[in-house]
Amino acid sequence: MNQKAKEILRTYFGYTDFRPGQEKLIHNILSGRDSLGIMPTGGGKSICYQVPSLMLPGVTLVVSPLISLMKDQVDALVSAGVSAAFINSSLSNDEIRETISGAASGKYKLLYIAPERFESAAFMQLIKEIEVSLIAIDEAHCISQWGHDFRPSYLLIKQLIQQIQPKPVIAALTATATPNVKEDILHLLDISHENVILTGFARENLHFNVVKGQDRDRFLFDYIKQNSSQAGIIYAATRKEVDRLHEQLVNSGVRAGKYHAGMSENQRKDFQEQFLFDNISVMVATSAFGMGINKSNVRYVLHYHIPRNMEAYYQEAGRAGRDGVESECILLFSPQDVHIQKFLLDQSIMEEERKESEYGKLRKMVSYCHTETCFQQFILQYFGEEDAAPCGKCGNCTDKREQVDVTREAQMVFSCIKRMNERFGKTFITKVLSGSNDQKIKSMGFNSLSTYGIMRDKTQKYINEFIDFLTADGYLVPSDGQFPVLSLTNKAFKVLLSEESVMRKEMVRAAQLVEDHELF
Ligand code: ADP
Ligand code: ZN
Repeated sequence: MNQKAKEILRTYFGYTDFRPGQEKLIHNILSGRDSLGIMPTGGGKSICYQVPSLMLPGVTLVVSPLISLMKDQVDALVSAGVSAAFINSSLSNDEIRETISGAASGKYKLLYIAPERFESAAFMQLIKEIEVSLIAIDEAHCISQWGHDFRPSYLLIKQLIQQIQPKPVIAALTATATPNVKEDILHLLDISHENVILTGFARENLHFNVVKGQDRDRFLFDYIKQNSSQAGIIYAATRKEVDRLHEQLVNSGVRAGKYHAGMSENQRKDFQEQFLFDNISVMVATSAFGMGINKSNVRYVLHYHIPRNMEAYYQEAGRAGRDGVESECILLFSPQDVHIQKFLLDQSIMEEERKESEYGKLRKMVSYCHTETCFQQFILQYFGEEDAAPCGKCGNCTDKREQVDVTREAQMVFSCIKRMNERFGKTFITKVLSGSNDQKIKSMGFNSLSTYGIMRDKTQKYINEFIDFLTADGYLVPSDGQFPVLSLTNKAFKVLLSEESVMRKEMVRAAQLVEDHELF
């Protein structure tokens, strides 16, 4: 690419090379293409607009919701020799006017703005004075109602873009890449699909695993004992569970702290500092813990309960191994917890549409627990990196069990679902397959289907788990909502046509599970 861009990177920022995603995004911006950059936190998003800002004729407006970080960013730029300023609620009207006229006269290359400013008509008028080459929209997921941090003022960005002539280039940036958030951003900002640049979500030093069918407390305590010299975080879903686990750990001599929203500010701060300085090795916490904590040598993150979605899971698990050293992320799965999360969702005050989407996300999280393919790959594909390769080190990649061919069984399930017109959920499908006497089956005439009772030699539990596996591995897709209906994917049709086979890890007997556990 552009020699000039590299030179700027070196002289102002002190780096010799761009990361792959940065290079592509900067190239796009300089070619005048509106783009969406999706990179994980720490992936280096700021460079993507800071470097072009120094190459484009006018000013780069940076929309950012994080007022507290704005000043730091501007200070850092100024000390690197880049002229920059910010406008947010901490400035007086006079100061705002002064800053804008400074930008209009070419005094600043970068101008950071809090989105709330767009609500002021006077401000929108003033901004027309500035020659704007590029609008960088940081934390772009805030524009989407599906994002975890929707801010209505972000929607006003569209007006801003329309007001400025000639039209500036748009660079939207975020670390959130779930499909519906991405689609929303593209739609609302009128960015085309080929201008999405998504990279670098893989965390190569993390070893993912899911532990099922075991006594969780026992697993947890054994694990902590075996790793007693290491720092780790235990996430639990409720304050009560955090208190309980913390108490038991302390009683058994583990140097543990705790963190949840029900504790006093001082208590929390105290434990947080002790953890940071390695006075305690284990932190038991709710999801309230972690925002802004920067401890690099966390060797493991253990989830005692299933988190509410993959975003939350990857963020929390990702607090392990910030220093690049090999670390473990283990989720202890128990089917009852899914009911707890569902119950919490039920109770929450959310619009119906939003709730449906949250159910869908929880279901994907459950699928993660049932997948038999690479866990890391599953996560990366969830975030949109479709060509991610297996990691080779997670619990599934290193699972030595033999693969068995379960194509015939899978065909039974698929053809049954098809005969039921893809209009029912897991439990009901299981009943038909197992030949249950349920009145509903008779009244719908499903007892005369050729697939009725076709799996009656298996337990309902087995069939249920088999359907979970087929869902996790993308043969079946559940609809959104609380009572999801299963339908077949293309992958399933290929199996029905005997074009592809379905392989599954051999079932293990209970005795073997214990052995695996001891080896772990
Ligand atoms: P994000 O906004 O994506 O969370 P930042 O822009 O804050 O990430 O960058 C994260 C870190 O990576 C910063 O310390 C930054 O200086 C560093 N960084 C960014 N780009 C490069 C690069 N090309 N080479 C080396 N380090 C980089
Ligand atoms: Zn793997």
